[in-house]
Amino acid sequence: MDSTTNTPNPIENVVIIGSGPAGYTAAIYAARANLKPFMFEGFQAGGLPGGQLMTTTEVENFPGFPEGLQGPELMQRMKDQAIRWGTEMVTEDVTHVDLNQRPFVITSAERQVRANSVIIATGATAKRLGLPGETEYWTKGISACAICDGATPIFRDGELIVIGGGDSAAEEAVYLTKYASHVHLLIRTEKMRASKAMQDRVLANPKVTVHRNTVGVEVYGDGNLMQGLVVKDTVTGEERKIPAKGLFYAIGHKPNTELFQGQLDLDEVGYVITHPGKAETSLAGVFAAGDVQDHEYRQAITAAGSGCMAALEAERWLSAHDLIQEFHQANPEAHYEVEVKEATPATTEATFDPEATKQYGGYALRKLFHDSDRLLMVKYVSPTCGPCHTLKPILDRVADEFAGKMHLIEIDITVDSNIAQQAGVTSTPTIQLFKDKELVEQLVGMKPKSKYRETIQHYLS
Ligand SMILES: Cc1cc2nc3c(=O)[nH]c(=O)nc-3n(C[C@H](O)[C@H](O)[C@H](O)COP(=O)(O)OP(=O)(O)OC[C@H]3O[C@@H](n4cnc5c(N)ncnc54)[C@H](O)[C@@H]3O)c2cc1C
Repeated sequence: MDSTTNTPNPIENVVIIGSGPAGYTAAIYAARANLKPFMFEGFQAGGLPGGQLMTTTEVENFPGFPEGLQGPELMQRMKDQAIRWGTEMVTEDVTHVDLNQRPFVITSAERQVRANSVIIATGATAKRLGLPGETEYWTKGISACAICDGATPIFRDGELIVIGGGDSAAEEAVYLTKYASHVHLLIRTEKMRASKAMQDRVLANPKVTVHRNTVGVEVYGDGNLMQGLVVKDTVTGEERKIPAKGLFYAIGHKPNTELFQGQLDLDEVGYVITHPGKAETSLAGVFAAGDVQDHEYRQAITAAGSGCMAALEAERWLSAHDLIQEFHQANPEAHYEVEVKEATPATTEATFDPEATKQYGGYALRKLFHDSDRLLMVKYVSPTCGPCHTLKPILDRVADEFAGKMHLIEIDITVDSNIAQQAGVTSTPTIQLFKDKELVEQLVGMKPKSKYRETIQHYLS
């Protein structure tokens, strides 16, 4: 309902839920077909806006990029392309769907949208093990994303553990050798599931030890940070301790289908069942694409391909049922704002402006900490951290709302690692608020925009 006119919102041609390769590709095709798709990008419920590739570094196998590119950059390009052709996007989690009435109703915390067709592209989420000590030491040594958190100071030059036997685990173990003194890769069986090429990379790396037939039993620590993992040999039953500063889970994913339980046919694991060779689900007008319906290939390109199929099938279905409302775009460029992708250079003595709301780097932080009487919001990020990329425009907009009353200072922990260490940063993104030189609040991970706004307001009042 539009609160200003008290009239129901228009019915969308197609709502796309999820913004990984499947969702963005569906959006590009649907937008190019003049359907003006509406997308819920997601926020926290089932991964990140941009999906799983926001948590990786190099993507070497996506066609069209012979030199490879960073996962977050690939996703930004897909997003730009979807926006360029008129996709409407909101960075919100869908909290409820009603597929029992037509038009379908899709609800988030902020809005309710009605749609004649729906494309489900909610992907999959990293699993946790639920070990004793896991809750206590989560983000204090334990992480499900080596690529996001590996560069943080607590892991530097220490021994680290990765659990998992697939490609992700192998990739993460090798990646972590950049920062760790040694990496232990725990595999619960005798055989690794990773591809032969990935296995070869792991086994050839002198900084990785593979422990076969080994499972985690309990995480231990000093009450502040984890210090190691008790492991068990599944053949002999023998238990021992591996001292380590960090533990990274890479044990697979579960499909994000809770929203659809009881409304669509799902398989025994929870994947959406699609008709063979199609994106159609058990319900006419509802289509599924990407990892949410694919337990076999689970690749960016297959997700993108099935996103294309879902959009084409949705268009045909809408057309056959005479439900299409076309939106013609006079000027696609009007939707397209090219974002500045290069990192902003750190402030130096020569470029420092004490009045600027947004500031970058250690020099600015030190100056402002001593000389400014404004509220300081310090944002610790790393270049390979996907959530950090997602958070940037959100926090920039919030900072603009409080211009002149606060400073937002960005610290790249790979550049200013001493500052990050002194600040006790164990994962990125981390936000710290300082008032009158005192640390008054710390927010770890991505939070809803309203949380940042409310926290700033609280300390300004
Ligand atoms: C570490 C890692 C490295 C990888 N490397 C490669 C690689 O090199 N090459 C390759 O081809 N593949 C790679 N993959 C696999 C690839 O990332 C996935 O196959 C692909 O991202 C699946 O795309 P998707 O669109 O189906 O879903 P996802 O990428 O999982 O995206 C799902 C989307 O749904 C959203 N969502 C979930 N729930 C909701 C909700 N309730 N409301 C709104 N939105 C929601 C999420 O926010 C997210 O945007 C890698 C995966 C990982 C984890």
